[in-house]
Amino acid sequence: MPVALVTSPTYVQHDFPDHPENAERLRALEAALDSPALALRDYLIALTPRPATVDEVALAHHRPYITALREAMRQAPGYVDSAPTYVVPQSYDVALLAAGGAIRAVEAVVGGEAQTVVALVRPPGHHALPDAPMGFCLFNNIAIAARYAQRYLGIGRVLIVDFDVHHGNGTQAVFYEDPSVLFISTHQENLYPQTGRVSETGAGAGEGYTLNIPLPAYAGDRAFERALAEVIAPAAERFAPDLVLVSAGFDAHWLDPLANLQLTLAGYAKLTQGLQAIAQAHARGRMAWVLEGGYHLAALTGGVTTVLRTLLGEHGIADSLGPAPRPEPEVTGAIERARAAHGL
Ligand SMILES: [Zn+2]
Repeated sequence: MPVALVTSPTYVQHDFPDHPENAERLRALEAALDSPALALRDYLIALTPRPATVDEVALAHHRPYITALREAMRQAPGYVDSAPTYVVPQSYDVALLAAGGAIRAVEAVVGGEAQTVVALVRPPGHHALPDAPMGFCLFNNIAIAARYAQRYLGIGRVLIVDFDVHHGNGTQAVFYEDPSVLFISTHQENLYPQTGRVSETGAGAGEGYTLNIPLPAYAGDRAFERALAEVIAPAAERFAPDLVLVSAGFDAHWLDPLANLQLTLAGYAKLTQGLQAIAQAHARGRMAWVLEGGYHLAALTGGVTTVLRTLLGEHGIADSLGPAPRPEPEVTGAIERARAAHGL
């Protein structure tokens, strides 16, 4: 089944050169896609995003925040939170286009243009709260896309899997009381933003529909394999999603400078196969990936190209960055706590 890619040259206009979340991340990805050795673009359907409208952004954000962010462009460049999240004069428009990129991805998978779409957007989104920017994120791209799919594309239940090394606190906040979206996050425990404990399971009607799997430092491929097989897959089976969305951060790779998990490129390939199997079993294969973090350029480009090649059906891809340098800690306790909190 065809795989599509959402990209836009506009995504590099949001940029602070010395900040970890800078435009070089996307320039490196574009260069990797252009690499003649892989010729990836020959196999991928190219999709162009449109900017999200304010009404679409308001599916996941409070309108006063959207207005305040637009007004903040007058003081740009500068910081809009202490994480630090920066803006430049173009950032509001680029953020609308990033949300629009996630929307374009779900439109394409639900409309049958492609079975899987990967949206390489910036700025990232999963820390953005309904009423505030946070952690390099302005609008919560994946949350907006999930709500868009439900409101305009006839989708009922949405599974969001977030494997960025940081907890997707913004996405969790948007759907905390919503039983129509199962939000599952793997992340390094006790890391920014310090949320995502196993005990955070949702509230009200959404009780049980937030599933956090915090992992100890240096957890890697084996931990993710177990999280997938023992927690994510059975939770997905019980939920039976109509659409699978993936918050794809590549900062859980062992080379990433901002955190200490130890996924390898081979681990990302296995994770991709596992998520693809979940989408095929429950959602007719419909799956949209939205880029989040990832701050080591070789790990980011290696991760994204490994995901794309795996989605295209390639197996046994060589891991050009090699195995994790440290032994993995025992994660049975972490896996069992997540299972117990959700009756799995
Ligand atoms: Zn991250």
